[in-house]
Amino acid sequence: MSQPTQRICILGGGFGGLYTALRLSELPWTRSQQPEIVLIDKSDRFLFSPLLYELVSGEMQTWEIAPPFEEILAGTGIRFERATATDIDLQSQAIYCEEAPALNYDYLVLAMGGKTPVDLVPGAREHAIPFRSLSDAYRLQERLRLLEQSDREFIRVAVVGGGYSGVEVACKLADRLGDRGRFRIIDRGSEILRQSAEFNRKTAQAALEARHIWLDLDTEIENITADSIALGFKNQVDTIPVDLVLWTVGTKVSDAIKNLDLEHHQSGQIAIAPTLQTTQRPEIFALGDLAACHDINQQQVPPTAQAAIQQADYCAWNLWATIANRPLLPFRYQPLGEMMALGIQNATVSGLGMQFDGTLGHLARRAAYLYRLPTLKHRLTVGFNWVTQPILELLSQ
Ligand SMILES: Cc1cc2nc3c(=O)[nH]c(=O)nc-3n(C[C@H](O)[C@H](O)[C@H](O)COP(=O)(O)OP(=O)(O)OC[C@H]3O[C@@H](n4cnc5c(N)ncnc54)[C@H](O)[C@@H]3O)c2cc1C
Repeated sequence: MSQPTQRICILGGGFGGLYTALRLSELPWTRSQQPEIVLIDKSDRFLFSPLLYELVSGEMQTWEIAPPFEEILAGTGIRFERATATDIDLQSQAIYCEEAPALNYDYLVLAMGGKTPVDLVPGAREHAIPFRSLSDAYRLQERLRLLEQSDREFIRVAVVGGGYSGVEVACKLADRLGDRGRFRIIDRGSEILRQSAEFNRKTAQAALEARHIWLDLDTEIENITADSIALGFKNQVDTIPVDLVLWTVGTKVSDAIKNLDLEHHQSGQIAIAPTLQTTQRPEIFALGDLAACHDINQQQVPPTAQAAIQQADYCAWNLWATIANRPLLPFRYQPLGEMMALGIQNATVSGLGMQFDGTLGHLARRAAYLYRLPTLKHRLTVGFNWVTQPILELLSQ
């Protein structure tokens, strides 16, 4: 008698979830062990977030950085459910969603990423725009369009956070606004890009200086209103007029994850073993930004797309190994370097013994991301567009 098909549910179709689903569909399943793979996401599109800056600078379009799941999953056998998960019953192994009936699972992959906390300062929720999702980018686009069409001489932008996102978005927007832009980056630390490679930090500092982006370091934000931001520096508070505040700091897990009866790290992330299984429930795997992970070498795994993609390979393999009764592999993280966009057609890249900046950095970053896009078909379509677009632009002049 054949065994009933087992169901693997993957919650969240970002770098961790989507790439796990795609790897799972490529593994050598026997006919009797082939599981049903269900990918659940609240959005209808995968977002390649490292390229979100290119959307607001006008260098790329939505279809390039955020292809629909239906398109990515066509022909893979993976079932896609567009739904927002609100609760998981660990006893009955059921997922509850806002827009869909409950779904039972035999194996579950938690990959819902993180959220930007915009409630850390009075007025931030109402007046600051976070920069994480496609809808954040659209909201920013709309605000910029209105400001650009207005008759104001200058557009004053305050970017909260001097980490990767803050620096990258400031440089891209400074290039978009040109002479009209007046930028400041605010950070409570004494330097920007504290985690960054030295070459990239120095290149980024030069890029900020070239764009006259002011740095407010050792500075706390007291509150934000529709047209001002109050900054605390050395026991003194200055209220500065602004037209746009971007919020790029912090990350937290969703309530659905926080409330799960699983072991959590103090950050709220789910504790996992090096096999990426949750510490109390081996049938549940977790990866990406919502998981607190140390790899086999006790290396702390950073909350990056690079790490989530690497984890996805192990997660898929370990699910296959669990079902096929094979030994599981402990995750081994390989830092491959880091890349940062520093304005339009400008980037810095440092890793694997190589360092590039300027146009070369931009081309290296583009090539690396092209290689990382989720499917060969999408890579070819986007790559073809990147090659032909400049030629078409030249011909139309
Ligand atoms: C602007 C920006 C730039 C970045 N640049 C880089 C970079 O250059 N290099 C790098 O390595 N990393 C970068 N990162 C970090 C990287 O994007 C994350 O670390 C990575 O996306 C984490 O993958 P994940 O699978 O955990 O979560 P995500 O990729 O965020 O995916 C989570 C998915 O879960 C879905 N979801 C969430 N809640 C629910 C729910 N309740 N129900 C159903 N679905 C849900 C979301 O819609 C989303 O599709 C950047 C991040 C941002 C925001």
